[in-house]
Amino acid sequence: MSIVVAKCTQCGANINVDATKEASVCEYCGVAFITEKAINYYNTTNTINISNATINMMSVNVDNLLIRAKEYEHSNEIEKALEYYNKILDVDATHSDARESVERIKNTIPICSISFLSGLFNSGDLILTRKNLTYQSKKKTEVYPIETIKNVKRLDARLWVTIIEPAIKLNIPVGNIQEAAAMEEAINNLIREK
Ligand SMILES: [Zn+2]
Repeated sequence: MSIVVAKCTQCGANINVDATKEASVCEYCGVAFITEKAINYYNTTNTINISNATINMMSVNVDNLLIRAKEYEHSNEIEKALEYYNKILDVDATHSDARESVERIKNTIPICSISFLSGLFNSGDLILTRKNLTYQSKKKTEVYPIETIKNVKRLDARLWVTIIEPAIKLNIPVGNIQEAAAMEEAINNLIREK
């Protein structure tokens, strides 16, 4: 005798069967079954239960992914944070926390960043994100939302950025034509998108 668990192919009840016997009768419904088929039926159903368990594990993983993503974001490892938020969205595309976080992070990642030297003593950086243009020098840091930029014009390596509010014109000597052109193009692309 070799008793194993099987599932009645007629009524679906879990039953113990003698695997050495070719056939048996179900103790619940009284219908005869082939032992091998009943064992296979039990094993197949069991496999489905295992895959259900896998789905449960995935929903646990989303919580862990969120913890990791926030840890990376707090330690300012932005690329990693973005990667983990996107992993969450791969599992659950409607996850609002992950969606908002991806949006928030994308708004803070520099699209284009250049250094400038204005006069002998005033050097700094011009940093463009999807939301803002930041003018950062030793003297001041000013943040201009993209909506407030009217246009940008370039002559060689010099940029003129016209801001509507406050109504000013930034005059920025970049010193490198390629970098100035890249910034000009990046700002214009954002203005066109808005
Ligand atoms: Zn049965």
